Amino acid sequence: MTIANTQSWNSLDELAAAVRSCTSCALHKGRTNAVPGSGSAGTGILIIGEGPGFNEDQQGLPFVGRSGKLLDELLAAVPIAREDVFVTNVVKCRPPDNRDPLPEEVVACRPYLNRQMELLDPRVIVTLGRHSMLRFYPEGKISKDHGKILEWEGRILFPLYHPAAGLRNPAIKKILQEDVLRLPEALRESSRLSASALAPTSNSITEIHEITEPLKPEQPAQQTAEALESNVAEVAEAQLSEPLLKNEKQEEEQGDRQLGMF
Ligand code: URA
Ligand code: SF4
Repeated sequence: MTIANTQSWNSLDELAAAVRSCTSCALHKGRTNAVPGSGSAGTGILIIGEGPGFNEDQQGLPFVGRSGKLLDELLAAVPIAREDVFVTNVVKCRPPDNRDPLPEEVVACRPYLNRQMELLDPRVIVTLGRHSMLRFYPEGKISKDHGKILEWEGRILFPLYHPAAGLRNPAIKKILQEDVLRLPEALRESSRLSASALAPTSNSITEIHEITEPLKPEQPAQQTAEALESNVAEVAEAQLSEPLLKNEKQEEEQGDRQLGMF
């Protein structure tokens, strides 16, 4: 076992090489390729998913399957080019059968994400899905906190639903499409943060405070609909990392083959 050392990677390339040869947790045993992350932080945006899936493991690149295609579409609507953001995951190797990463796997992989954040110094951290959000905001609830512009250690934290949840549930896809359009506002808020020179203090989640909240429908009928939707959303997110149904998995693989992805 090699113990990941936060200090020793001087560049993203060096870090990626360390990830590719990492054996710090059991996930290394099942990987075809590790997936360190890709893109650039030209826009100051870092996007963090949960962990590589089938296609990502095959190609060694993040978000290249159906979820990745939806992510590209969401960014294009802002508009932001995929190559202008850095995309990575909480764990860099694929959990078997797309299960949730175990707490010890997240802990073992943490130095890589920590160092990526130091090297990239993002203004806005976009988390995709519950697990990624919990890494920064352990008390967060995705159905309540998606689309909010929050402060985390002097940076903006912008939690979104996971695109895979959007693929499974049209109501969540619609919310994702609406939420992502707030990215320019999140970037503006990050400029205000740095202008006000609020020095980052500790790691505590009490630092997280809401800067702005998405507009909420006012009529009671819509509130009821929203409450229902929020239940559906929690369930869809909870199911996210359950093994895909067999035919769903085949569809995903065939879909990507048709796209010429491998
Ligand atoms: N889902 C993730 O969380 N990350 C990926 O890279 C692909 C799918
Ligand atoms: Fe290393 Fe992370 Fe892969 Fe585990 S998931 S083997 S800690 S790179």
